[in-house]
Amino acid sequence: MTANPSMWRFRLFHSTARMATGKYTNQTNQTRRDAVNRGDSANTDARNGVGRGDAEAAVRILIQWAGDDPDREGVRGTPARLIRAYEEYFAGYHNDPADVLERTFEETEGYDEMVVLRDISFQSHCEHHIAPIIGCVHVAYLPRKRVVGISKLARVVEIFARRLQIQEKLTTQIADTINDVLQPNGVAVVIEAAHHCMTTRGIHRPGTMMVTSRMLGGFRSDPKTRREFLTMIGNPVNHRMR
Ligand SMILES: [Zn+2]
Repeated sequence: MTANPSMWRFRLFHSTARMATGKYTNQTNQTRRDAVNRGDSANTDARNGVGRGDAEAAVRILIQWAGDDPDREGVRGTPARLIRAYEEYFAGYHNDPADVLERTFEETEGYDEMVVLRDISFQSHCEHHIAPIIGCVHVAYLPRKRVVGISKLARVVEIFARRLQIQEKLTTQIADTINDVLQPNGVAVVIEAAHHCMTTRGIHRPGTMMVTSRMLGGFRSDPKTRREFLTMIGNPVNHRMR
């Protein structure tokens, strides 16, 4: 794989995200001692310099701050459960989406028409409130010599979704990664999603969907190609709301 400027941008973002979380690692010794005294998970399995016990202690503080008793039977196991859930929600930090696309097939019999993968469902979390973002992604590309297994496109979506996100960034990262690695004649990505930070808090607008898109190459320069793609996915940019 050639490292072109866009990929560097992505890698830079990745390492910045790691550094940003690093500043929350300075737990006090007292917090640590409390966690050990309660018999919580040992402070092993450190990620980004934060041990599991420290991460659980942080959740315990949030439960207390919310107004509940963290030692109450019903919530006693919650810190450990939430941290295990975080391992799932944010598994994307440990995978490189470019690797997923490395394996391509060149025996395509000259197929150069649009490849569309529609309605890839995803769950992500907004980086402002850590609230769920739930929606679907439509991905298309115009192959140039190489095609990729379609499950790989869904995998790329999943890796980026399982990080702290905003929908605009998610859209760009998916499109640019496919563009950089496959170097096709064009890439189109449309995302439709509901943001729980908007539906369950703040302005409280359930049913509101956000639509974002990124069109590259042929999808950007040729209105006919773009229209064909939008028709294939049901024209979400115009008015489909689910
Ligand atoms: Zn939010």
